Amino acid sequence: MSWAALMPVEDALEQLLAMANEQCLADSEILALDDACGRVLASDLVATLDLPPWPNSAMDGYALNLADLHRQPLAVSQRVYAGLAPDALLPGSCARIFTGAPVPPGANCVEMQENVEVLEDGRVRFLQPLKIGQNIRAQGQENRAGDILLRVGKRLGPFELAVAAGQGLAQLHVVRRPRVALLSTGDELVEPGLPLRPGSIYNSNRVLLAHWLRELGCEVIDAGILPDRPAQTRLKLEQLQVSADLILTTGGVSAGDADCLGQVLRDNGKALLWKLAIKPGKPLTVGHIGAVPVIGLPGNPTAALVTFGLLARPYLLRIQGVEDVMPLSFTVKAGFAWTKSASRREYLRARLETGVAVLYPNQSSGVLLGATWADGLVEITENSTHQVGDPLRFIPFNELF
Ligand code: AMP
Ligand code: MG
Repeated sequence: MSWAALMPVEDALEQLLAMANEQCLADSEILALDDACGRVLASDLVATLDLPPWPNSAMDGYALNLADLHRQPLAVSQRVYAGLAPDALLPGSCARIFTGAPVPPGANCVEMQENVEVLEDGRVRFLQPLKIGQNIRAQGQENRAGDILLRVGKRLGPFELAVAAGQGLAQLHVVRRPRVALLSTGDELVEPGLPLRPGSIYNSNRVLLAHWLRELGCEVIDAGILPDRPAQTRLKLEQLQVSADLILTTGGVSAGDADCLGQVLRDNGKALLWKLAIKPGKPLTVGHIGAVPVIGLPGNPTAALVTFGLLARPYLLRIQGVEDVMPLSFTVKAGFAWTKSASRREYLRARLETGVAVLYPNQSSGVLLGATWADGLVEITENSTHQVGDPLRFIPFNELF
């Protein structure tokens, strides 16, 4: 791919995922359940229990055997609360039962309390037609012992942790964290909390990416700010190469910075420079220093955000063994007209107002505030124009975390 041609986003993604497939992390660790959120399963999670472990009542009511119905009203022979182990049902009787309580052996139906008449002597008359199994959650209706509940490569969130907890698991086997060295490049950058020099700006990319990386299960090696000097860049990359699985940088990829990062990668490693058909985010540098991959995102905060979300994020999930790395997206109606077609695919910060995408007024790639206002990114494909009401693809921000 020559520097002059624009590379479609899909092609860049395909190349990054091919790299990631070569770089999949082989090591794993055992973590306490509470520490495993955001991590990826390193082996299948196999059920050790039937769930529910015994038939239990879905209602507050009365458990009975339908064969006894012709003998009603039925006396109440026991009371079964959740957490108790009931006796077998006395023939010709019913059992008072509460939601979640085990159904007594011998009972084959639960009637909800609203549908019975309790006589003065305490016996119970059933007023509605009844069916076998009614209001009983059968043993193993969710899963059987031995079932594979979650597959290797599954990213763990609160739902998955709860499923593991339901099996009594206090620990999980997960892929180790990718170690990502995060480097902000630019002579102009100053960390928040320090005085601003004339001509300098604060570093907003570091905190944005550090937190995002942690959400994706990564350990962040904060490599600070690097000036736009090839010698220092070379030294830094060589240092970081020892401890990192990936070096992620921002800035220094446009011509004005003398393409510092690309220069070092070309001289000391391997460099793939992509001019992507994407806006914001045109320049992306991908390469290796030694065996360690380097992804160089553009410096503009919104460009860094878009290219990280659409390209670096899938890479980081894939090296952890996640198969389905693409964010969920859906079609929304344009709440705006788009009259100027462009050769780059645009990702606009947009808010959904009753399903209609409304744009943040300032779509400049340097303006980060739009991301805090927006719900996600609306996609304008290459060389297209749109009328109000046209269907457009929308990627919610919460899908990118
Ligand atoms: P560059 O890709 O280095 O040419 O940077 C493009 C634009 O993004 C310039 O205006 C930079 O000042 C700005 N920029 C680069 N890095 C950062 C950063 N870490 N935080 C905020 N702005 C940045
Ligand atoms: Mg720069």
